[in-house]
Amino acid sequence: MKFGGTSMAGTERIRRVANIVRRQQAAGHEVAVVVSAMAGETDRLVGFCREANALYDPAEYDVVVASGEQVTSGLLALTLQAMGCKARSWLGWQLPIRTDDAHAKARIEEIDSEALIASMASGEIAVIPGFQGMAPSGRVTTLGRGGSDTSAVAVAAAVKADRCDIYTDVDGVYTTDPRIVAKARKLPLVTYEEMLELASVGSKVLQTRSVSLAMKEGVRVQVLSSFIDESAPPADDLPGTMIVSDEELEGSDMERQLITGIAADKNEAKVTLTRVPDRPGAVASIFSPLAEANINVDMIIQNVAKGKGETDVTFTAPKADLVRTLAILEDRKDKIGYYRMISDDKVAKISVVGVGMRSHAGVASTMFKTLADRGINIQAISTSEIKVSVLIDEDETELAVRVLHTAYGMDAAA
Ligand code: ADP
Ligand code: ASP
Ligand code: MG
Repeated sequence: MKFGGTSMAGTERIRRVANIVRRQQAAGHEVAVVVSAMAGETDRLVGFCREANALYDPAEYDVVVASGEQVTSGLLALTLQAMGCKARSWLGWQLPIRTDDAHAKARIEEIDSEALIASMASGEIAVIPGFQGMAPSGRVTTLGRGGSDTSAVAVAAAVKADRCDIYTDVDGVYTTDPRIVAKARKLPLVTYEEMLELASVGSKVLQTRSVSLAMKEGVRVQVLSSFIDESAPPADDLPGTMIVSDEELEGSDMERQLITGIAADKNEAKVTLTRVPDRPGAVASIFSPLAEANINVDMIIQNVAKGKGETDVTFTAPKADLVRTLAILEDRKDKIGYYRMISDDKVAKISVVGVGMRSHAGVASTMFKTLADRGINIQAISTSEIKVSVLIDEDETELAVRVLHTAYGMDAAA
């Protein structure tokens, strides 16, 4: 069972969580619980790091931000004990949850599950702070924002759990963010592949890595609400959204829609380099240093420039890495040989996702026409087998998602 930040925000809500956990144990399960920091806490801690040192050392950043989950894991164990349950917390370094040494975005390599399994077998509820692990050096690491989802899936895989229930503040995965589009519909089933694509293009309901890990390890994941009372159906009845394999979905009687979901991502910025020499190696000279600096470039466009033998190169990268990106390319201006560098962080990426796209033409053209009808300009496009993404002005995000949701016939009946 994993509980997100909103579910853990304050002792009153933690008591509600403890009740859900207790109920699950009473239904005959052994349970491990992974918790997030209280809502807003990680942001607050990140803010302190920035104030202390704008170019902060990621290893010390991890020391600071991992503390949020330490607090909530102890509080949940205390609350469960107050209810008469046996419970204890297991910090990342105590299990340990072994990660690589990429501080602030570490990857889990291995979890020692022995102590955990023994603890659960003895009737104790194991409470594990999400988001944190231990580097080979023994120092604390964190898994990147939203990383508690990945902690939960990794723990589930390590103890060979029957299921990993991700409790959050919505009751499942919807066709699009239900907080933005009131007509979004809840999906009873989503395939790993679709969820992976949705998460990677901005549906933050699950961290992308948690989905790839679940897919790789075959972990059964359910997304469901923690804002429920005693009368709500138990988690074993699968009231939320199940993430399933393609075969499982085909075996179900759920009707296949062309598009599964729409996501928006405001976390990317656009960079254009004008008049780059049009010769082999020019593009590599732009993107190799960015890759070396661990900056994930997403959409890339190369246009013919006005001048002969020159080209304009536009790409997107995470907003959080924009300052570093610009500094790296400024440094190499002469080597790359571009004329001007222009950046824009007021952009949003809108993506439509669905495995139905594989067998149906016209998904992209519907998207372009729908946006054009509303006068929304497209600045860049990228596609994969089951996704089309466009880059637009950030101010038009909500409008774009709403009109596309209607255009693909996804609106819930009023
Ligand atoms: P937690 O703190 O529990 O990890 P998050 O805020 O990370 O919760 O994720 C839940 C949020 O994800 C929801 O409140 C919702 O606004 C957002 N969200 C974005 N896209 C979707 C979607 N397709 N379906 C459901 N929720 C979504
Ligand atoms: N508390 C961390 C964050 O806000 C991890 C998580 O909640 O998943 O990113
Ligand atoms: Mg989350």
